[in-house]
This record gives sequence, structure tokens and C-alpha cells, in this order.
Amino acid sequence: MNLSTPTDYAEEIISGNRAALSRAITFAESKKPEHQEFAQKLIHDLLPHTGKSKRIAITGVPGAGKSTFIEAFGLFLIHNSYKVAVLAVDPSSKISRGSILGDKTRMEELSKEELAFIRPSATGGSLGGITARTFEALLLCEAAGFDVILVETVGVGQSETLVKDITDFFLYLQVAGTGDDLQGIKRGIMEMADLIFLNKVDLFDAQMIQDSKMDLHRALQFLPKTDSGWKRKILKGSGYSNLGIDEVWQEITNYFELIENNGFLSELRQKQKLSRINDYLEEMLLQKIRTSISIQEERLKWEKQLHNNEITPYELAEKMLEKYFHST
Ligand code: GDP
Repeated sequence: MNLSTPTDYAEEIISGNRAALSRAITFAESKKPEHQEFAQKLIHDLLPHTGKSKRIAITGVPGAGKSTFIEAFGLFLIHNSYKVAVLAVDPSSKISRGSILGDKTRMEELSKEELAFIRPSATGGSLGGITARTFEALLLCEAAGFDVILVETVGVGQSETLVKDITDFFLYLQVAGTGDDLQGIKRGIMEMADLIFLNKVDLFDAQMIQDSKMDLHRALQFLPKTDSGWKRKILKGSGYSNLGIDEVWQEITNYFELIENNGFLSELRQKQKLSRINDYLEEMLLQKIRTSISIQEERLKWEKQLHNNEITPYELAEKMLEKYFHST
């Protein structure tokens, strides 16, 4: 592949060239300024081709069955002629070095499919940085014609908020019948969820599953209404045994029909873009402050003051900011 300009890449990506798509995402993730610039030009050129996919967050604690579910769900979609991209998000991998993703063979069957594209997570950096990179990958996949983009959370912690910010639909996987369903799900997650999928039903008896479903229904009643006008749903099934997968898709389809008709989708898409501006501002500003010569000249002196307890970290940050804005 001999591609040299963003325009070359854009053409290849639109025509479905996987290698070009992969490399474009790598450029977007790169810290090198020339790669960044290239990626941003490319995304700009591709903008008219973005916006047509369904952006779906798939979350749940490690072990809830996310990758097994995505394999089954992805294959179901492909058999129905949809193109599926899977992006993973893992803010914790800075600490764990991405071990969750690296240690096991994930989505083996799905990864063999022509209509599927699986991309491990953008890692490292700030939360805003990871969100921006994942959003860029999402736009690139969209331009490549993927109908459904599944954004999976791999790490624990803040990843749910992160994916909520860049997706249209939030699917939460919860192991059914564990008896402590409600303690297991934080209220915040339930509020974010459009659909709770009680997973691994093949492991539990029907009564237990029914009980946990009832408990969840009761809990959902006390939550504030969703902004989309959608009524949160609970479904049960199993990624492993391929149960309930088609119903999940049916609900997702119903949801999109609703939000396309009531105007919420276009409102949401605008919000997704607007909230990225802060991510970029943070990145740009930090980069400029870190590399500012005038700050570097003073920095050692300030760090000494910090060490001697003459100033607080807050005051040091303030000094840096003042210096930056006075010297530009
Ligand atoms: P993730 O960490 O959320 O991605 O979870 P995995 O998909 O890796 O699943 C964790 C474990 O649960 C694996 O051993 C899976 O084989 C198993 N598992 C996943 N889904 C199901 C299911 O529906 N039924 C049963 N019995 N096991 C499942």
C-alpha cells in the first residue's frame, strides 16, 4: 500500500480498505505531531461520511461476559448483513498495561469475519485523551461504512462515563441470578443504562432469574426519566448460549426509531462533538505549557520551593499558567 496524502487515505477508507483504516487509527493515536496533523486532516476530509452508524456502549464488570456477548451479538449482526466495528476502551490500562485485553484470545470467531473490524483500546494518557482517541477511531470506522459500532469498556472505573459520552445507546451486562444484583449495580450505572441484559441465564434456574429481573424492575422505577424519552428495559439471555441476542437488537432498533423521530439523536450527536472540545483544549493547553521555554527556565526554582514547602502544588500550577499567558 503506497498512500501518501490524507486524500489517498480517505479514498481507501471509504472504499473499505481495512489496512488503511487501521493505519489511520494508529496515526490518530500517535503522539507524534506530524501523525496527529495527518490524522486530523484525514478526519476532516471524512466528516461528510460520518454519522450514519449506531454507536453502542457495552459495559459490565470484568467477567460479566462482555467479549463473549459481543462475539455472539457481532456474529448475529453480520449474519443480518450489517458491518460491525468493535472498539475497546480501557482507562485502567495505564496501570495494568492492558493485560486484560492482551491475556486472552478475544472474539476469535468474530475477528475472522470479513464484515467485522476489531480494534483494541486506545490506552494511556488522560481520560479526556482516551475519549478523544476513541471518538476519532469511531469516526474513522463510520467513514469506512460500519453500520454498528460497539464500544466496549475493558477497564473498570471511569470507563462507563467515558463511553456514555461518545455513544448513543448504553447496554449494561449483569450476571443474572447472583442474588445481589442491586448491590452489584451502582445507581449511576443504572441511570446511564438504556438496556440491562441479565447475562449467563444458562447458569441459573428460572425462578432466580425472574426474581432478579423483578428486583431490577423495581429499582428502575425510582430512577429519573431518560433524556431521550426511552423507557429503560431489562432483557435476559446468554452470550455463551446465544440466547436473547435477537431481542437485544430489536430493542436497539426500537430505540433508534424513537430517537430519530423525536429529534434526540441529532441533539445527542451535537453534544458528543461539543464535549470533545474540552478534551482537545486540555490536551493542547497542557502540551503548550509543558513545552514552553519560559516556564522551563523557572521550573527548577519553583520545584525547589515546592520541595521546601514554600508553595503548594496548586500555587505552582498557577505560576506556570501565569507565566505562560504573560510570555505569549
Ligand atoms: P468480560 O470480562 O466481561 O469480557 O467477560 P468474558 O466474555 O471474558 O467472560 C468471562 C467468563 O464467563 C468466560 O469464562 C466466559 O466463557 C464466561 N461466560 C460469558 N458469557 C457466558 C454465558 O452466557 N454463560 C456462561 N455459562 N458463561 C459465560
